[in-house]
Amino acid sequence: MRQIRIHDTLTNAPRVLEPRDPGKVGIYACGPTVYGRIHVGNARPFVVFSLLKRFLEHEGYEVKLVVNVTDVNDKIYAAAEDRGIGSEELAREMTHGYVADTDGLALGRPDAEPKAAETIGRIVDLIRVLVDQGAAYPAGEGDVYFRVGAFSDYGKLSNRALEDMQQGEDDADRAGIKEAPQDFALWKGRKAGEDTAWPSPWGEGRPGWHIECSAMAEEILGVDFDIHGGGADLIFPHHENEIAQTEAARHKPLARIWMHNGMVRLEGEKMAKSVGNIRLLHEALAAVGRDTLIMYFVSGHYRQPLVYSEDALADARGAVERVRDFALRLDPDAPVPPEAGDYSERFYAALADDFNTPAARAALFDWITEANRRIDAGERIGVGPLHEMLRVLGLENLLDADEKPDDDAVRLLEEREDARRSRDFATADARRDELAGRGWIVRDTPAGPQLVRQR
Ligand SMILES: [Zn+2]
Repeated sequence: MRQIRIHDTLTNAPRVLEPRDPGKVGIYACGPTVYGRIHVGNARPFVVFSLLKRFLEHEGYEVKLVVNVTDVNDKIYAAAEDRGIGSEELAREMTHGYVADTDGLALGRPDAEPKAAETIGRIVDLIRVLVDQGAAYPAGEGDVYFRVGAFSDYGKLSNRALEDMQQGEDDADRAGIKEAPQDFALWKGRKAGEDTAWPSPWGEGRPGWHIECSAMAEEILGVDFDIHGGGADLIFPHHENEIAQTEAARHKPLARIWMHNGMVRLEGEKMAKSVGNIRLLHEALAAVGRDTLIMYFVSGHYRQPLVYSEDALADARGAVERVRDFALRLDPDAPVPPEAGDYSERFYAALADDFNTPAARAALFDWITEANRRIDAGERIGVGPLHEMLRVLGLENLLDADEKPDDDAVRLLEEREDARRSRDFATADARRDELAGRGWIVRDTPAGPQLVRQR
């Protein structure tokens, strides 16, 4: 096995992946809080960790990827109230939306997708351990707070001074209740207007956000698991607090490597015209298709901010077309020159060096340039290592010349036809856009409508 290094936020240095259980890698990546449809930016960790899993599997590891759904949270209560519906109903609706939207990326589902509302027992148990050990205390009307002063390593992930660590959760009106301003809520007593609550030794209430992840991660992966991931915006307070909770309770590290992806930045004025308005994942998928979107994500190093712009998407579209054009020139029966192996070695070496997808992508395109040159000179070239390289980037479908539409695509096409027959053109157009999002173009032929792969 290749040695794999990943930049660890905790030590601020590259760290060699040394799994707790040899040959197996457990990854926990923080998923969405389901109070609205997810943005393109929320899709980035989903793509990064789904592809990291593919790479590690290529390297021979058995990988378990856990991406949670935060379905109990202040933001959900607030958004449900705004819409005049129940918080459970909103969370359910937005969880479905999240699954549908990320299904549109066609990268498969994570191995486990735990929900906070289904983990309450584990959460209460973990809080009880913390209270018993003096690391947490009940206060106010049914709240329980983590005692930051009792955990001497607090701040080690985000490297902040204690006075700079505002928890940002109703700090003002909790000031008189908490022992110290940095203390954060593990359990929140039921408040007026909250329509869900669970029983606990401290009264009816609900968990805080951070303890949900500590409990869900431990339930599925145990402690001291291999990689904890998420967006860089979660380093403080969310991940700092996850570390404090789990380590104070279990006296073991929560995770071995802390891996954070940079944010997606919307580019100012240029964006305003077209894609600028398309910030939701399902809209972006409908507008540019999943191939372009995945190519766009892998064009940037996961740790760097990624600009979401018309130009960046056009580049990605061009790159997708280049691979598709190249695929048509390959001869499935031809051998692959040994030099192809040098490019694929460069490709995997780049991924082993802090999951450098842009460098890997460059190696892949260097091979395409070289192979095109050879084909121009009359050589016949087979697919060889290209398929697996593209698979690791989530783009293996670019090699399929005349792919058959999947069941979902066929169903969407039927719905479009039904809508057209009943002159419901809005629905017909919506179905056509959904198909475009999945990479299918509807071509109306004398023999009826046909689905053609987007080129
Ligand atoms: Zn989390």
